[in-house]
Amino acid sequence: MNSNSISVKISVLLPVPLDHPFDYVSDKPLAPGTLIQVPFGPRKLYGVVWNEKNPTSSKTLKPILSVFEDVRLPDVSLKFIEWVSEYTMTPRGQILKMALPAPEVFEAKGESLYGLTKPPQRLTPQRQKVLDFFGASTTPLPLAEISEKTEVSEVVLKSLLKEGVLSLKGDRPWAPPPPPPQKSPQKPQLSLDQSNAAEAIKKSLESHTFHTFLLEGVTGSGKTEVYFETIDHVLQSQGQALIMLPEIALTAQWLQRFETRFGFQPAIWHSDIKQSQKKITFRAILEGKVPVLVGARSSLFLPFPDLRLIIVDEEHDGSYKQEEGVIYNARDMGVVRARLSQATCVLASATPSLETELNVCSGKYHSLQLADRYGGAEMPDVKLIDMRKVKKASQDWISPQLREALHQTLARGEQAMLFLNRRGYAPLLLCQSCGDRLMCPQCSVSLVQHKFQDKLLCHHCGYMTRLPSTCCACQEEGSYRAIGPGVERIYEEVKMILPEARCVLMTSDQLTTAQKVSERVQQIQDHEVDILIGTQIMAKGHHFPLLTLVGIVDGDSALSGSDLRASEKSFQLLHQVSGRSGREVRKGQVLLQTHIPEHPVMQALVHQSREEFSALESDQRLIHGFPPHGRLAALIFSGKKSHDVEKIARMLAKKFPLTEKAELLGPTPAPLSFLRGQHRWRLLVKTTKDFPPQPLIKVWLSKVSLPSTVRIQIDIDPYSFL
Ligand SMILES: [Zn+2]
Ligand SMILES: [Zn+2]
Ligand SMILES: [Zn+2]
Repeated sequence: MNSNSISVKISVLLPVPLDHPFDYVSDKPLAPGTLIQVPFGPRKLYGVVWNEKNPTSSKTLKPILSVFEDVRLPDVSLKFIEWVSEYTMTPRGQILKMALPAPEVFEAKGESLYGLTKPPQRLTPQRQKVLDFFGASTTPLPLAEISEKTEVSEVVLKSLLKEGVLSLKGDRPWAPPPPPPQKSPQKPQLSLDQSNAAEAIKKSLESHTFHTFLLEGVTGSGKTEVYFETIDHVLQSQGQALIMLPEIALTAQWLQRFETRFGFQPAIWHSDIKQSQKKITFRAILEGKVPVLVGARSSLFLPFPDLRLIIVDEEHDGSYKQEEGVIYNARDMGVVRARLSQATCVLASATPSLETELNVCSGKYHSLQLADRYGGAEMPDVKLIDMRKVKKASQDWISPQLREALHQTLARGEQAMLFLNRRGYAPLLLCQSCGDRLMCPQCSVSLVQHKFQDKLLCHHCGYMTRLPSTCCACQEEGSYRAIGPGVERIYEEVKMILPEARCVLMTSDQLTTAQKVSERVQQIQDHEVDILIGTQIMAKGHHFPLLTLVGIVDGDSALSGSDLRASEKSFQLLHQVSGRSGREVRKGQVLLQTHIPEHPVMQALVHQSREEFSALESDQRLIHGFPPHGRLAALIFSGKKSHDVEKIARMLAKKFPLTEKAELLGPTPAPLSFLRGQHRWRLLVKTTKDFPPQPLIKVWLSKVSLPSTVRIQIDIDPYSFL
């Protein structure tokens, strides 16, 4: 630093799990949000200038290493990080990390470029390809691109680099992705409901003030056309729009619809996207060059400079809640993000959550309804099959009525779907002679038999083993017996009943990527499949015109357990699955197998009386002060030693501050009392709606010192109670 320069103290937030910014010195003042690089212990870290004054310390401060002059997180992103951190009680650094997924993309140096220096001494067909490539073109390229263009592996290229055949020729600064090819957009004719909804949203967009809408309509009512119409409006005003979808719902078919409508592809952001692509997208977003992005929940944290519209598709979907790392609900945070930038938020669903419905009732959200199935198709009839009265063999899971319906559907040349939300062959294995149950060694749950892959799996920690030939307890030979059905077992049964039928399984075991989902969806649309058997992965918005029968194998499976939303979630899932049946001109039917046909969930499905059901559910929650009428925060304690975990949970419970507004439930061992080798206990803090629990929890936890052997996770607005 020369003698003329001033020395300014700069506060810097770093993308590490710490809440407070660190102080450094700079030779000039820097605006909050500016991307910089600083020394941090032995490491160099990217961070952003934070608008916060630390108390002066006498320590000598380290100078910052570099400043990225024009790279700044927008103010709204900084506010959003503060807000989410405060609400979820998560260190700010951890939230920053989500807003800054690839800061290295702003390095001026960019990517290293390689070119041909001399011919190799030894030639192979692979090496010849590289020579030919550079014979025709002399421009140096990054290794990854040479590999892509020559179809020669990077291993081969690196060996050429080592021998000096290829060498470093320079660097290429990051460039924005080439503009997508523009085809002429196709505007569809909207129904009256659709255009009314779109107009209301456009009016909000024009007002530049924050509004939240609930766009309510059943599967097939044409919500997507409303999204597109409003996105079009944002595009014309040069703003940005974000559409969030449940992860697996983003298929090639959906993207095709978008491209047909707009003539270009939107940017995409989810866990399957390659890091190199994420870098390009991230940079383009911060530079305001991404007009529309479609993504999973994590896309909400991306630093859009002028986000005008956030659409949350299937707003009730549980996958918007991130349960690990930073625990947050992307739907709720989406509304907050919209408010911070005076944007418009659209929550869409056929079966809105009670939280959202209450916000409509209280006037916070505006309701928009799409009444009809677009194109005039009717909702399917739902019939209950009372399994208590059905006569069938004990190892059969499909009732005679459902079997008959399958026969008839296939005879008409149509398709059927069997739904069971249980992966694998059987959820439980018991020894027939001593009753021993095969458990995961690291979790307090049964191992699930996956017969088609010949293995036993823990669905919670991923532990995998083979079926032992003798009982682990009594050593009896071949004594384990599969109890209850999973989708593989249903597949087996269908193969027995209808050996000629073309069946496929659709679960996350088969469909591991969005690509595979797209391929399977295409197969079904092309009528290469007669019966699909699957879990909730196939409940999402696919469009199968020939599918006219949905059979729900076990309608009761999600109703048991300790989840206060069990009924609500069951209804949403079964309703969504039912909606797969009969679209366009063919009327569909749904056969729902249940042991409790009188249950309000079953009755609401049969009578298509969602509103009555919601009202009933809501009243039940009101009596107990549960969400949406009250607030919850869960504290989950975990550790290697059961005794330590219990002790801390009990000790903390004793110190809970007494107030009329808050109540403590627990401590109790968690339903999943042992998970990945950790013992678990839970506490639940219940407060009234007007009393956010965070400040109370902060004070409460600050009064006790916790041993390092017990970890506490705070889950605000818990969605899972395991
Ligand atoms: Zn309003
Ligand atoms: Zn045994
Ligand atoms: Zn396990």
